[in-house]
Amino acid sequence: MSNSEQWIIPLLEEARANGLERQTRVYPSSGGKFTLDGRDVINFSSNDYLDLVRHPHVIERSRQALELYGTGATSSRLVSGTLPIHAELEARIAKEKGYPAALVWGSGFLTNAGTIPVLAGRDDLIFADKLVHASMIDACQLSGAKLIRFAHNDVESLEKRLQDFPGTGRRKLILTESVFSMDGDLAPLRDIAALAETYEAMLMVDEAHASGTFGPHGAGLIREFGLEKSVNASMGTISKALGGYGGFIACSENLRKLLVQSARALIFTTSLPPAVIGAAHGAMDVLDASPNLGACLQANADYFRNLLKDGGLDTLQSESQIIPVLIGENAKAVAVSQKLREKGIIAPAIRPPTVPAGTARLRLSVTLAHLLDDLETAAHHIIEAVKTA
Ligand code: PMP
Repeated sequence: MSNSEQWIIPLLEEARANGLERQTRVYPSSGGKFTLDGRDVINFSSNDYLDLVRHPHVIERSRQALELYGTGATSSRLVSGTLPIHAELEARIAKEKGYPAALVWGSGFLTNAGTIPVLAGRDDLIFADKLVHASMIDACQLSGAKLIRFAHNDVESLEKRLQDFPGTGRRKLILTESVFSMDGDLAPLRDIAALAETYEAMLMVDEAHASGTFGPHGAGLIREFGLEKSVNASMGTISKALGGYGGFIACSENLRKLLVQSARALIFTTSLPPAVIGAAHGAMDVLDASPNLGACLQANADYFRNLLKDGGLDTLQSESQIIPVLIGENAKAVAVSQKLREKGIIAPAIRPPTVPAGTARLRLSVTLAHLLDDLETAAHHIIEAVKTA
């Protein structure tokens, strides 16, 4: 290592000493079940909730797009990176989500990073749930707006914060997720939307984990609750339940036009490759043909969560396919995760700063690749590993 990198060593040592060392482990597959080191494993770390990454139709549509348009989109959306399949996907997402328009971005992270600084600037106020995703928080910082956090899923706390900043002249933006990525609980969206209306604030909801998994045809919880008119920016990802890559915003025609004018994370990056867009179409075709996939997933997740709870584990307020198992200490969470790995169960330990200090946990993603038998076997091992840790 060159002398100019000496400062890195104490940082790595500190992470290790605090049980916070992270790795990019190599896995043979990204699905919900596969063979690892010669043994069958059940993988709870995949966000491929609907088991679509290897779906023949999704692969076929991806292949068709690849053969028709080649490997890359070659320039940004505003130059010549908008091919017919990009435009068709946006029209489709808008319709599905119940909005006049939609815009597809390079990733979910870029979608948040690009949209929030357009909605709020230096003189404005952003009210964000304490647990919103890092991409939203980074975007708030990028925007230069004043960032005010409210207690997680606490409508009273949000209202108090809104009352702390009365008056007009500054734009107000409320940020939440509909299904929270690390807790798997659901936001009180109807109440938040009512407050947004009362206090004349805009509302942006991240549906990264609700798209494909909740609502009619997997359209998400905004659609399920009929809140399209109250939520200005309905954000989602293609990278989780839809089994591909990319992000999107469903919104008004005017907001889409403004994002195209000024969102740096849209303008200054190359458009998604055709094969990725083709795969997104394929996943949406599957959801159109089998609109109840999300409901099946939630039924399986309920079954699994009840097994874990009956075994005495704390699954926090989870009501979705994301099931945390609270452990507390970082080192203990890592030890439980390692023990489960030896039993053929991949159950990632999630530690700070991804979750608040003292709340290290296993984060279990149920997917449609998991059969009920798998869930029973896994619940048995998880309960034992946590209790004996
Ligand atoms: N929002 C939430 C709530 C997420 O969990 C994630 C991914 N972990 C993102 C945004 C970013 O999405 P992507 O992975 O598509 O960049």
